[in-house]
Amino acid sequence: MIQRGVNDDEIVALAQFGRDKGVEVRFIEYMPLDAQGHWLNESVVGQDEIVAAIHAVFPLEQLPARGAAPADRWRYLDGMGTVGVIPTVTKPFCGDCDRVRLTADGQFRTCLFATDEFDVRGLLRSGATDDEVEALLRRAVGTKWAGHRIGDVAFVRPRRSMSQIGG
Ligand code: SF4
Repeated sequence: MIQRGVNDDEIVALAQFGRDKGVEVRFIEYMPLDAQGHWLNESVVGQDEIVAAIHAVFPLEQLPARGAAPADRWRYLDGMGTVGVIPTVTKPFCGDCDRVRLTADGQFRTCLFATDEFDVRGLLRSGATDDEVEALLRRAVGTKWAGHRIGDVAFVRPRRSMSQIGG
């Protein structure tokens, strides 16, 4: 996760690391899910800026569209692998998102930024049948939002941080 003024001077070094190790480094834009609640829009380093910084040193070519996967991907023109950037804030891809999450304490979430959770643990511990659990999950998925609304005045930051959700 790249944060302006914190690690935005390490973008190329991180890309270099991926090239050296033969792994795909994936950058992700800074999202308002930090435990400290310090997120500011000005702290976000967008996908375009990340890609431009890498491209200036290691020329890139974008790979075909991602489908439901979160990262846009590029390949290094010198054949030294690929790199990905997840543009959650500057280029939201919620319309293609098929993700849901079950937290470590048994709460089902339909979005990283969901403000409601569905208590699967409580249901299981009450002796619910598989059909009842399925019904809960179906109902929950039916409430999945069209998008996260970061940047909108109506945006409400979720109570949990990324590490508690399992980003
Ligand atoms: S719907 Fe939520 S979890 Fe899916 S991409 Fe958008 S912000 Fe992320």
